Amino acid sequence: MSLYDDIIGQKRQIEQLERARRGGRVAHAYLFFGPAGVGKERVALAFAKALNCESEENAPCGECQSCEKIKKRVHPDVRLVASEQELLDRGLIEPEKGVRPSAQIKNAQLQELSDLFRHRPYLGRWKVVVVIDADLMNANSQNRFLKTLEEPSADSAIILVTAHPEALLPTVRSRCQALAFGPLSTDLVSEFLKQEHALDEERARVLAAMAQGSLQRADAIAKGDVLEERDGLVAGFSRALGGDLADVLALAEEYSKGRDQAQDALNLLEIWCRDLLFCKLGVSAKLLVNQDRREMVADQAAGFSSRRLLAWIESIRRTRDGFWVNANPKMALESLLLGMRTY
Ligand SMILES: [Zn+2]
Repeated sequence: MSLYDDIIGQKRQIEQLERARRGGRVAHAYLFFGPAGVGKERVALAFAKALNCESEENAPCGECQSCEKIKKRVHPDVRLVASEQELLDRGLIEPEKGVRPSAQIKNAQLQELSDLFRHRPYLGRWKVVVVIDADLMNANSQNRFLKTLEEPSADSAIILVTAHPEALLPTVRSRCQALAFGPLSTDLVSEFLKQEHALDEERARVLAAMAQGSLQRADAIAKGDVLEERDGLVAGFSRALGGDLADVLALAEEYSKGRDQAQDALNLLEIWCRDLLFCKLGVSAKLLVNQDRREMVADQAAGFSSRRLLAWIESIRRTRDGFWVNANPKMALESLLLGMRTY
């Protein structure tokens, strides 16, 4: 058993990294990108362990001194870089009185790395830097970082982890070997929910489908009252479709308190509309996500054409993708809902 066996999914990416490691072809810089909560960081840390593991055939073993030190974040050659806010959220640093933690990765943090790269590894064979949410480096920091990427030392590997590779400078991206991490299958997520949250089969499947391939989202969903939230959203949505303008504005207002909230709401809405479409097309009820609301789905689906439902799903997706460039979730939701009323 190696630590890789504990990672859910992403076997192809792990194999690719392992082939490079065993073949002596480890890249100086990697870009692990893909949606949040699919295992990018876990794979990055396991790979850092594998590069320095004392076990020949079982790396990363998770048990040797090197693996232990990396796990405890005390290995001198392996660094985890993240914003202060992130480090604080994980309990890796103490809050400082009167100082607001930075949501960005600071230049000073990157400065420390250049020292690391100047020396040979102290303990292990490889110096490894894992940058969590690398998109939190601003352009200035990225330019500094570029220097490190341009002058790699033979025994160092940098792994940039991000859900938003588009926020990185093309010059940074082009110097990294990119590795895409896709969403996990509903089966894997459902298994995870059953084991970690002791859910029964039906609930696990509903929540897994809602999590859309992300363990992080599945975790959050399992802890919250997502089914109740969905019911509230669907009720508000029905009002907004059939009622007057005030209902539209109220719904947009309610779900636009933050970008994440708006995004979550759109995810739920997309899944709901997809179920309506499936129902309309006569797809087996077993394939619906909202299993627990089958009758309601059938009722609503009867009122709309499949063409209209398809157009809705398209526009929900477009709105959600636009959140990263659109500064105002409330306006985006309003115009989405107004559009849905007319076609
Ligand atoms: Zn080990």
